[in-house]
Amino acid sequence: MNPYIQDVLSDLSKRYAHQPLFLQAAEEVLSSLTPLLESNPVYKKNKILERIVEPERTISFRVDWVDDKGEIQSNHGFRIQYNSALGPYKGGLRFHPSVNLGVLKFLGLEQTFKNSLTQLSIGGGKGGSDFDPKGKSDMEIMHFCQAFMNELYRHIGPRVDVPAGDIGVGGREIGYLYGQYKKLTAHYEGVLTGKPLLYGGSLARTEATGYGLVYFAQEMLAEKGRSLEGCTCTVSGAGNVAIYCVEKLHKVGALPVTISDSRGTIYQKEGINVDVLKQVKEVERASLTRYKELCPSAQYIPVSEYPEGMNATWAVPCDVAFPCATQNEVSLKAAQTLIKNGCFAVAEGANMPSCLDAIHAYEDAGILYAPSKAANAGGVATSQLEMAQNAGMVHWTFDEVDEKLKKIMANIYDQASSTAKEFNAPGKLLLGANIAGFRQVADAMLTQGIC
Ligand code: NDP
Repeated sequence: MNPYIQDVLSDLSKRYAHQPLFLQAAEEVLSSLTPLLESNPVYKKNKILERIVEPERTISFRVDWVDDKGEIQSNHGFRIQYNSALGPYKGGLRFHPSVNLGVLKFLGLEQTFKNSLTQLSIGGGKGGSDFDPKGKSDMEIMHFCQAFMNELYRHIGPRVDVPAGDIGVGGREIGYLYGQYKKLTAHYEGVLTGKPLLYGGSLARTEATGYGLVYFAQEMLAEKGRSLEGCTCTVSGAGNVAIYCVEKLHKVGALPVTISDSRGTIYQKEGINVDVLKQVKEVERASLTRYKELCPSAQYIPVSEYPEGMNATWAVPCDVAFPCATQNEVSLKAAQTLIKNGCFAVAEGANMPSCLDAIHAYEDAGILYAPSKAANAGGVATSQLEMAQNAGMVHWTFDEVDEKLKKIMANIYDQASSTAKEFNAPGKLLLGANIAGFRQVADAMLTQGIC
């Protein structure tokens, strides 16, 4: 590894030893940049690495709200405005008890390079709270969202910072957040994306991350003369990304056989039933035990029965694996099991779902690997299309948005693949995506001076 990169990583690990996910994300990106830095000393001269890994601004605030029993609750809220070299900050809000500054810094850094790969003039941001939406009533969710926006509204705007959803934040939460923003500012404007269709949402935004992931995987397989048609696929997660990944896999003639949530995995040999999945997760907001009730032929494997050190999903033999739940869900052992069982491609829907040693195992085995920052960029890309429709006060049809999404995913694949070839590493999409995403942000920073 280039000594400049080593120095920056070593400095980061001293300063942020308490933020392991952020350090992992920084290592994953920076360790790909050796060939670029060696041929471009200008980045070192301008201390680009030291500057790009630090957020431009970190906002941290208290969120006080009252639950249904009249008890006062207090949570931590954050917004990280990571990098605005390419456009207004853009990135989701995550509501999950595991949220802290380190988690959001990892997500914000990834988002910065992901947004760059879309080539849609958006900077990187991320935010959220350690609030746990599970088990909360609609009224409690509304009160929390309003309290969160009471602070957030002063830091965001359609040309400043445009948040969206992530884990625990879907259409319902975006609606409550938007209502409160409007109340506080009296502005009816595209300050959030992922809005319901009734007031400025874009058709195909709900589907975009999952569909875009499958489009990316199709591009990756096509370059090797292969196709998803007839492939058995394992998918983890049962949220927004997983549901629409499963739906699109069916549409392209593949067979998705698993889904999972934090309590267990469903394995259904004849293929996951998308209508039942949507009913359970989008309508009833229930656990996958309910899916098993509605589809008795499916097998339900509770987390307590998972093979040691891994998620049960990855023990199911497949041709292509789609991790769509959360970070570090594919351990080295899981990666080795996938490879042993004949899996020939992994395409990541979740952010950083594969541990670093799992990625090395994919590379050593020579299987196809679509890294998240490229493969799951369809969500943010379609969010930018929502911003464009809001700004122009126009509405595009589902097919128009889907067509644009397909082109964007093909372009992202092309950038990752051609950049890998430019640096004599054909097929190494992680290296290609990291260099292409980094180079655009870094070059914009260079031209904007020291600011
Ligand atoms: P959702 O909240 O809709 O769904 C997350 C799903 O993953 C749920 O089924 C959840 O189960 C499951 N899950 C979460 N943590 C775990 C865990 N530790 N073990 C097993 N299952 C778990 O989130 P999204 O689908 O929106 O996001 C999923 C991933 O995709 C995240 O990494 C997110 O950052 C990324 N992503 C999302 C985008 C989007 O447009 N939504 C865009 C790009 C990336 P349970 O309900 O039981 O907690």
